[in-house]
Amino acid sequence: MIKPLAIHLNSHLSRIRSKMTDSCIFCKIVSNEAKATIVYRDERVTAFRDAHPMGPTHILIVPNKHIESVNMLEAEDEPLIGYLFTIARKLAEEEGIAKGGYRLIANTGPNGGQTIFHFHLHLIGGQRMRYPMG
Ligand code: 5GP
Ligand code: ZN
Repeated sequence: MIKPLAIHLNSHLSRIRSKMTDSCIFCKIVSNEAKATIVYRDERVTAFRDAHPMGPTHILIVPNKHIESVNMLEAEDEPLIGYLFTIARKLAEEEGIAKGGYRLIANTGPNGGQTIFHFHLHLIGGQRMRYPMG
C-alpha cells in the first residue's frame, strides 16, 4: 500500500527539522549539549550570557524550540514571543539595569546582522547605548 502523503511529508519534515537542530549552536545550548552561562531556563525559554558581550550586561533570550528568525514566526508563536519580553523585563530587573534602561534587539537576516539562525532577543545594558549601533 502507498504511504499516505501526509505521513510521508511529516516524517520528511521532522527529519529536516532535527537535522537543523543538530547543527544549531543555540539548540545545543538549550539541550545542554553545548556550554553557556545560563541565567534563566524554563520549559519554553532559555537565557544565557553572550560569548562576546557588547555591554556590561549582554544576555541572549531564546525560545527552546528552533525558530530560524522573525521571518519564520507563525501566529501560534505570538504568546511565546510576548513571553520572551516578560523574561527580558525580569532579567533586566535582576541585573539591576531596568531603571537605567537597556536595549532589546532581534537581528533578522543577513542585512539585519543575524549570524545565528535561531531566533533570539539580545538584552544589552549597563551603559549608555548609542544609536544606531552600526
Ligand atoms: P546575532 O548576530 O545572530 O544577532 O547574534 C548572535 C550572538 O550570539 C552574537 O552576539 C554572538 O556573540 C553570540 N554567540 C555566538 N555563538 C555563541 C556561543 O556559542 N555561545 C554564546 N554564549 N554566545 C554565542
Ligand atoms: Zn536552533
